[in-house]
Amino acid sequence: MKDAAPGTTGETIYLADYTPFGWTVEDVHLTFRLAPESTRVISKIRFVPNPEASQERFFLHGEELTLVSAKIDGQSVSPEITEQGLTCAVPEGAFTWEAEVEIAPAKNFALEGLYMSNGMYCTQCEAEGFRKITYYPDRPDVMSVFTVRIEGDEPVKLSNGNPVASGEGFAEWHDPWPKPAYLFALVAGELVAHPDRFTTRSGKDVELNIYVRPGDEDKCAFGMEALKKSMKWDEDVYGREYDLDIFNIVAVDDFNMGAMENKGLNIFNSSCVLASPETSTDANFERIEAIIAHEYFHNWTGNRITCRDWFQLCLKEGLTVFRDASFTADMRSEPVKRISDVIDLRARQFREDNGPLAHPVRPESFQEINNFYTATVYEKGAEVIGMLKRLVGDEAYAKALDLYFDRHDGDAATIEDWLKVFEDATGRDLTQFKRWYSQAGTPRLRVSESWDDGTFTLTFRQDTPPTPGQPTKLPQVLPIAVGLIGPNGDEVQETTLLEMTEAEQSFSFSGLGARPVPSILRGFSAPVVLQHETDTETRAFLLAHDTDPYNRWEAGRSLAKQALLRMITEGAEPDPAYLGALQTVITDETLDPAFRALTLALPSEDDLAQTLHEGGITPDPQLIWEKREEMREAMARWMPDQLATLYRVHQVPGEYRPDAEPAAARALANTALGLLTRLDGGEAARAQYASADNMTQKLAALTALLSIGAAETELAAFYEQWKEDRLVIDKWFSMQVAFARPEETADVAAALVAHPDFDMKNPNRFRAVFGALSMSQAGFHAPSGKGYALLADWLIKLDALNPQTTARMCAAFQTWKRFDAGRQAMIKAELERIAAREGLSRDVSEMVTRILNH
Ligand SMILES: [Zn+2]
Repeated sequence: MKDAAPGTTGETIYLADYTPFGWTVEDVHLTFRLAPESTRVISKIRFVPNPEASQERFFLHGEELTLVSAKIDGQSVSPEITEQGLTCAVPEGAFTWEAEVEIAPAKNFALEGLYMSNGMYCTQCEAEGFRKITYYPDRPDVMSVFTVRIEGDEPVKLSNGNPVASGEGFAEWHDPWPKPAYLFALVAGELVAHPDRFTTRSGKDVELNIYVRPGDEDKCAFGMEALKKSMKWDEDVYGREYDLDIFNIVAVDDFNMGAMENKGLNIFNSSCVLASPETSTDANFERIEAIIAHEYFHNWTGNRITCRDWFQLCLKEGLTVFRDASFTADMRSEPVKRISDVIDLRARQFREDNGPLAHPVRPESFQEINNFYTATVYEKGAEVIGMLKRLVGDEAYAKALDLYFDRHDGDAATIEDWLKVFEDATGRDLTQFKRWYSQAGTPRLRVSESWDDGTFTLTFRQDTPPTPGQPTKLPQVLPIAVGLIGPNGDEVQETTLLEMTEAEQSFSFSGLGARPVPSILRGFSAPVVLQHETDTETRAFLLAHDTDPYNRWEAGRSLAKQALLRMITEGAEPDPAYLGALQTVITDETLDPAFRALTLALPSEDDLAQTLHEGGITPDPQLIWEKREEMREAMARWMPDQLATLYRVHQVPGEYRPDAEPAAARALANTALGLLTRLDGGEAARAQYASADNMTQKLAALTALLSIGAAETELAAFYEQWKEDRLVIDKWFSMQVAFARPEETADVAAALVAHPDFDMKNPNRFRAVFGALSMSQAGFHAPSGKGYALLADWLIKLDALNPQTTARMCAAFQTWKRFDAGRQAMIKAELERIAAREGLSRDVSEMVTRILNH
């Protein structure tokens, strides 16, 4: 039989090997006697033979646990213990397992399982952290009802579900909803609640709390409003109501991820929940709103219906990201949300898909599941849901979702279950569509057009480049939204959905009076790279006339990209046609300021490097950086008066509000400020910094000054003002690296890690410096190789404490094959140096191997 137990370091686990666990768990009772160095966890678990599986070997996961005692039906037993867990002889029928283990939360720097953050106990169990708390079948398809007793002196003691009893030194919680162990949570510490209430649509009264450290109470109001909006939205749009008497959120400073959807007790990285106008930017507010919604929405898509195994991670994550994106689109601007999501998808997911870490939305094997919490599973997973919805239509989508909740509530489900629901609800065959879950890589979609006597024909060819383990690909189902625009700028064909299923396929539009200009892939209807040979005039025409906001933005972006690529490869001057078209758009006061701010932003250095690489040109990071700077300078010089007017007109008077409308005005004004700073030596930025009463304005001014190397005074003042606020000081660390000149980036980062406030154990602080370093393409890839060496030094140090965060940061090296032989040799040497670390974690070992073996 296939062993359900995971293997040692380096062993690969396959989707195809799935077998159910031999027993079901009827109920679980846990008692925690909290102590920083020696917490006792006492478990009592009722196992019943699973009729759908064989009971050949009783194996419980368990890592870094000291077993004090174990009993079966009250009789002491001596299980066989390995580094991964234990096996034990068990009775034939149902039995009760009891165990007492000891763990040391204060020494847990991996931040998985039960650990301490600023003296507070907290947990992170997804994906496989529960096995560091006690011996258990730690797999998502084993679901059970948990009762938890917490003993300790901490004033606040929380777990999942509803509170059932409390008294001097203890609290008891009961969660009536069966759940997998990865949704278990416990929090204990000196915390204060920001309370509120919500009445569900069926009239149930729910107590809500956001728990924070004393002193942070004034940063909870926005998060609480976001929670209530999310609860209402899920009722209105998906018909999903909350199902417990209480919903708690806790803010934790040391956290590997953004937030975690534990049933009834969401645990958040404090950066993803605490907000105030003085300390948070508009972008922070929007992100907090989205993450609170995301975790809340998991209550149905993730918790009530969970994943059968971790290969199905996209089942909960793709769907929940799609849901939170729809929520943000409803709360704010739909086009702006879509454009922002596409920028993010291209920056993170396309990069992943084009390199050694490419994997399908549903991977087929892994060594360490923590390495698959990726842009592909999350963001591409959400794109797949979006395509499905487009293909079947809104009504059928709603019907299918109702069926999904009806049919699978309480299940640990699979992608097959998910697709079957759509097939049953719509009568559609989704066999070919399923390739989106199994084929890695971003399809290239080439388009050619022809015009013949009133008939306009678009011919598409799709082709997906090879990815690791997948040398050849089959055609995918591509929903291609197309509109046609007449020569006078009027739309002659409104958006229509073409469904491409072949490698090559043509679609014709007849009865047209004149040759139209096509607007292809409206709303970015499929996650592909569109290759459409068009000239500057056509792009400028679409930028001026397209009725689809996404494609209008895309036209501007492709103009900018084309102009920049000519500057990089031919030494061309900044293209006046681009600058002229840009000026027309940004001064059009009928357009949303947020849209105009996005249009003013240039394609990223990474995007340009990837495009050059695909065209057979080795990108020079320094040159790309210089040409983008030159283009910014040209933009500022082309329209100084218009920029000054934009800056003035879009100042927001009155009290700061984080809503979409004022945030959009600030985004446009601050983008203008960034350009104007290149002309006025920082005068306007300095004035804004001095007078601003909110972080959005302060930070925009400060980064504008940093980008011209004139921020010394303000940077020092900023630190003095905020040195006690960890989240604000994270910004202080990160912006200095992000806005350094490329030749100085690594030195700036090196100086910052020597600062007394640098704390490698705090993932936010570590990411503030090293995330910024790895995202600064020209700085990280500076010819000296200092950026590579510095990152490798610190990854080696961090791996000994926190493998999960270390492994994620290894992805900084994933684009290495794009660059010249010299850089490749330096990166290879650093990767090999990391790989040679004694006691290298499974997480990092897998990442480095994948990157090197490409
Ligand atoms: Zn999630």
